[in-house]
Amino acid sequence: MLDVRVYGDPVLRKRGAVVTVFDDKLRLLVKEMIETMVEEDGVGLAAPQVGESLQLAVIDATGGEKPPIVLINPEFTYHSEETATNEEGCLSLPGITLKVTRPVFVSVKAQDEFGNVFNIENADGLLARALQHETDHLNGLMIVDHVSPLQRKMLSGKLKKMAER
Ligand SMILES: [Zn+2]
Repeated sequence: MLDVRVYGDPVLRKRGAVVTVFDDKLRLLVKEMIETMVEEDGVGLAAPQVGESLQLAVIDATGGEKPPIVLINPEFTYHSEETATNEEGCLSLPGITLKVTRPVFVSVKAQDEFGNVFNIENADGLLARALQHETDHLNGLMIVDHVSPLQRKMLSGKLKKMAER
């Protein structure tokens, strides 16, 4: 299992590099990320969370019912105006859940681990939320960046402790 990086690790704040080589090394990383996501009971896991600064994430919003989605070099092609607020957690912020407001529907264009381009049209619910949460990680963003300054202030003690570990 891969080691999941926690808040305070600088790799979580870097924008991941675009993936250009789709080789066995990449596919091994994908496999290990999926295993780690399952082991940690996560809905998604982004490469920066395991110390790899790449535009790569894996998502399972179905609780293991469907094969995980491998999301490489994702780009949103649609965000709905309509938003919803829901609790989100993050493997890199253990013990913290925050109410995050995001568009309800999104469409995304991405590549799989073989470089094939695919589209996810009008995703909603947990999948839409996971697509946005994981893509945030690829841009160096985390759920704490979505909350009000007051909420962040209330969290600052916890975050400081986390960053010092
Ligand atoms: Zn996360």
